[in-house]
Amino acid sequence: MTQTITQEAIQNEQDYILGVYSRPPFVIERGEGSIVYDGNGKAYIDCVAGIAVNVFGYNDAGINGAIAEAAQTGVLHVSNLYHTASHARLAKQLCEKSFADKVHFSLTGADANEGAFKFARRYAREKGHEDKYEILSFTRAFHGRLFGSLAATPREKYQQPFQPLMPGVRFAEYNNLESARAAMNEKVCAIIVEPVQGEGGVYPATPEFLRGLRQLANQYDALLIYDEVQCGLGRTGYLWGYQSIDSGDGSDFEPDIMTLAKPLAGGLPIGAILMRQKVADAMHKGDHASTFAGGPLTTHVANYVVDRVSQPEFLADVREKGDYLIELLEELNSPHIKEIRGKGLIVGVQMDIEVNPIVEKGYEHGVLFVSAGPDILRFVPPLTISKDELAQAVNILGTILQEI
Ligand SMILES: *Cc1c(COP(=O)(O)O)cnc(C)c1O
Repeated sequence: MTQTITQEAIQNEQDYILGVYSRPPFVIERGEGSIVYDGNGKAYIDCVAGIAVNVFGYNDAGINGAIAEAAQTGVLHVSNLYHTASHARLAKQLCEKSFADKVHFSLTGADANEGAFKFARRYAREKGHEDKYEILSFTRAFHGRLFGSLAATPREKYQQPFQPLMPGVRFAEYNNLESARAAMNEKVCAIIVEPVQGEGGVYPATPEFLRGLRQLANQYDALLIYDEVQCGLGRTGYLWGYQSIDSGDGSDFEPDIMTLAKPLAGGLPIGAILMRQKVADAMHKGDHASTFAGGPLTTHVANYVVDRVSQPEFLADVREKGDYLIELLEELNSPHIKEIRGKGLIVGVQMDIEVNPIVEKGYEHGVLFVSAGPDILRFVPPLTISKDELAQAVNILGTILQEI
């Protein structure tokens, strides 16, 4: 019975779904904690969490409760023409817990970054700089797949078929301050950087790099944008990813704008653009808008997520499990593992072989793994994963590495 449903789903997918993804031959039917189950009842330990989204894993009582509460009002959507309480409460919470004075909501990570670029250009214009519209981005960056965010994502394969993209993006080498200085000029209105690069291979920034970018932005009156779509909201064991770069501080390299998305509503789609007052002052009524963004359902759930991930005990637990994961990976002593990088529960394992076969073998052995580039395996599990589950997953990785 379930086997038939699985086959039917996969057949329908082949017949009717645009083929831009390659998916493994099973259907995920339900989840519990950090485990998902396919149509045959087979269990998989999830080291992916829907790409760093499902912070509390699956079937979480708190998330379910927040969804039920929001549903009880009967109002899933009213558009941004009207006030809703959870939308405003979430903005307040995000400002109180960060450098920011104002928030604007979006739907995804890419459109949060698009908004940030618009705000940065608006800010420069407002200050009378007609010509200040360029964006400085970095090698290996990933900022999304829309025309502006894609222009700031230097991947030939992603960009080339869709040219021309948004003009005016220049690049420097990540973690190389000299390169950033050389690429900088008066026309740059914003520098965008991931404090921990995710898709590009899990590369944390150095404190010197972020500190230097902060100074560079000040020097040119450009805005510093942190893309924390993947590394923000507790993933690194600190509420904000940039704090993890200097062991919990980072007060001397805070950004002017910060974008969030992936985990913000625990699996529901939402993004946010956090900004300083001076950026907010440059934006006026009618300058930017979205039909769905910041709706009452997603923001109600996001209030729950932000509240829970910012608890000091929760963050300490993420740090401890992150250290444990790195220890386990080191103990594998595999000749194929060249480097282990990361902060908290975003960890990249640099291999000397292609990792796709490892991901495939993971399916056989009951683990979901994801890559971050051809030779880097990335761990971004639910932040609530247990040490025992981490140990099982790494143990399976060890077995796979021996089989290969
Ligand atoms: C995933 C990601 C994005 C894009 O987010 P979408 O919701 O897929 O548009 C942008 N920046 C970073 C750092 C990401 O990891």
